[in-house]
Amino acid sequence: MTTFSELGLDEKLVKATDALGYVNPTPIQEKAIPVLLSGTKDFIGLAQTGTGKTAAFGLPLLHLIEVAQKHPQALVVCPTRELCLQIVTEIELFKKFIPAINVVAVYGGTSIGMQIRDLKRGVQIVVATPGRLIDLIERKAIDLEQIKYVVLDEADEMLNMGFKDDIEFILQNTPKREATWLFSATMPAEIKRVSKKYMKEPFEVTVGKTNSASKNIDHQYFVVNNHHRYEALKRLIDFNPGIYGIIFTRTKLDAQNISEKLTRDGYDIDALHGDLTQQQRDKVMGAFREKSLQLLVATDVAARGIDVKEITHVINFELPDDIEVYTHRSGRTGRAGSTGICMSIIHAKDTYKIRSIEKMVQVTFHKLELPSGKDVCRKQFFSLMEKLLNTDISHGDYTTYLPMLQEKFADVTKEEILTRMAALEFDRFLKYYENAEDLNVREQRRERKEFNDRPMQSEGRQRIGGNDRARPTQYSDGDTMRLFVNLGTKDGFYKASFLQFILDMSDLPKDVLGRIDMKEMNSWVEVDKKVAHQMIKAVDGKNYRGRRIRMNDANSR
Ligand code: AMP
Repeated sequence: MTTFSELGLDEKLVKATDALGYVNPTPIQEKAIPVLLSGTKDFIGLAQTGTGKTAAFGLPLLHLIEVAQKHPQALVVCPTRELCLQIVTEIELFKKFIPAINVVAVYGGTSIGMQIRDLKRGVQIVVATPGRLIDLIERKAIDLEQIKYVVLDEADEMLNMGFKDDIEFILQNTPKREATWLFSATMPAEIKRVSKKYMKEPFEVTVGKTNSASKNIDHQYFVVNNHHRYEALKRLIDFNPGIYGIIFTRTKLDAQNISEKLTRDGYDIDALHGDLTQQQRDKVMGAFREKSLQLLVATDVAARGIDVKEITHVINFELPDDIEVYTHRSGRTGRAGSTGICMSIIHAKDTYKIRSIEKMVQVTFHKLELPSGKDVCRKQFFSLMEKLLNTDISHGDYTTYLPMLQEKFADVTKEEILTRMAALEFDRFLKYYENAEDLNVREQRRERKEFNDRPMQSEGRQRIGGNDRARPTQYSDGDTMRLFVNLGTKDGFYKASFLQFILDMSDLPKDVLGRIDMKEMNSWVEVDKKVAHQMIKAVDGKNYRGRRIRMNDANSR
């Protein structure tokens, strides 16, 4: 078996892998590292999370960085803040014996000022989400001039989330790029197109199965407060300019309200609900099929049997109570071999529903952040420019008008015309989103709120369910075992949802649990000694979002 030192890595990096307890490279590392160490070869790695891909690109990056040069040399772009933080945490571990290398995470939803300060302290590796990175480019707060290596991690997810233009923008703004490394679990046509355009004869490696067929629907959810639901819906629509989709509501009234509000705001939308006559219903469906309506808002009953191909998005304005209904709704997209996206706008207290759907339907949900107002505007701008370039002018006799146009625009430059065009079409988005607030409900806030909601609860102890009476300490220290678990708030859990998750897996009642302490990366939970091993057996070694869960006796670690 190959060892890390045989791969040609700097000895300080080999020492770090030793310290981490890595005995041998994983298949993706074995295949990728020798190629990436050249620093000049483009690379495509088809690998899922859990295959060791972060080390596969992280170790070669650290090897290639010129330590004395205190400017950004490598850029890692990934879809979410969680992944961003995870990558930085791992790179920090790999660079344990090369402390002079600085790495920083930049992602949205948090103070940009702090990140700008971080960037100024001479970082060589920047790990970023696309939106925030572009923000920083626009503010001239990041210098990409000297970037030699660009890594696109989870490229398929980034495209699913609508970051295609942003990625192209980033690639176009790294003029000294010597190598581009792209990692993706699947290889949709869009990625092939991007790689063809920006990469030179990439070296391609596939490990494990590429899950293309089973993953034709991407399940996503967004956590917001109830009073932000409509705003969140609008933002999702605006962030997906080419959307052709169905919005599902639980009630007729919601369907009607949303349809009216969005019509007033200038969208091509109509509602389908039980109060319509057959004739009205046919009319709405006809318009939707012809695509003169871009969006349909429907209740479950009214949407029964809709079979329209090419639906790009299903949006759940609220999650249904019934798992079967969820499956039915999401199944309206991703038909006939195409891919689709099912988005759910949820309240924090419904996270447990997401977990049960994941369990029952065997799908993985991606918790995503709602785009910021700036993200939306940029997206709309790119889309408008694309539309302008792709407008079909072949079947109109525009030449007749050309002399007149030329005369009229004689003193106006091309740049000015483009700017005016943009302003004409784009102003309403700029105005609407000028002071748009961040709609995301973040983990910490949620935890605090949950704590406030339950004043009787003793500190550090969380129960599942809404029982207001504090649970007396049932166990003395001798009765419980404290278990360590390598999952934490970064995995999208908060205390109650985490407890529910491990109880569901081990099929145990909630009263076997005692105190829980939860950190970003890990948790510690007290469990009745009599069933602790049963729980470990059920949970340890299982997969969570492609990562192997570790659960063991905290005192024997
Ligand atoms: P990733 O696919 O990068 O998310 O990695 C999944 C997990 O595998 C991480 O927790 C890594 O620390 C771990 N890992 C990566 N490379 C190795 C290795 N060569 N041996 C053992 N564990 C590894």
